[in-house]
Amino acid sequence: MSPTAAVTAMRRGLQSCEVCTLVSQPTPGAEAGLCPRCGEELVFRKAASFQRSWAFLIAAAVCYVPANVLPVLTTTTATGSDSDTILQGVVLLWSPTGWRLSLIVLIARIMIPSAKILALAYLLVTARRGSVQNNEQRIRMYRMVEFIGRWSMVDVFVDTFTAALIQLQPLMSVAPAPGLFFFAAVVVMTMLAVESFDPRLIWDPASSEEVQHA
Ligand SMILES: [Zn+2]
Repeated sequence: MSPTAAVTAMRRGLQSCEVCTLVSQPTPGAEAGLCPRCGEELVFRKAASFQRSWAFLIAAAVCYVPANVLPVLTTTTATGSDSDTILQGVVLLWSPTGWRLSLIVLIARIMIPSAKILALAYLLVTARRGSVQNNEQRIRMYRMVEFIGRWSMVDVFVDTFTAALIQLQPLMSVAPAPGLFFFAAVVVMTMLAVESFDPRLIWDPASSEEVQHA
């Protein structure tokens, strides 16, 4: 080991508990693999991070197509019913008074999900290739993707808001259409993909030590 290489907790055989954050050394015996304080299962790394993250990401990318092609809302009026896709909704909402809502839908529905999928794919590809370039930028990108995930519910709010606005008009009603279920699947799948990704994979190639992927 070169003097500059950092000593990792994994190398020392230390594990940290994801629930109570206690750092402990695994003891052989019946209690092996469990946190001595709270009993949570201990792992050095998120299990099969690459495979799981890829699987969820591919599922998200697949669902992204019908989410944008199929109608998400069906509006019924006295003159008949009309189904709109996300993009049609954006165009429809675009008016001197409704452009803000239109912009929110455009960002929350089209830009953020696609940016998340692309960013995560980039992180997975570069980590797999063992890239040691732009580590800081990549970890920043990961944090951003993780942060955005928490705001995915903004979209549900927009939906409710839109539905409420339309319901206010007499003789008009809205109902979810198949595209909405695919969109929800995209949101859930990308969240699971981010959750499965172990950001330490970004730093592994930079470390001089052999790391075992549990
Ligand atoms: Zn614990």
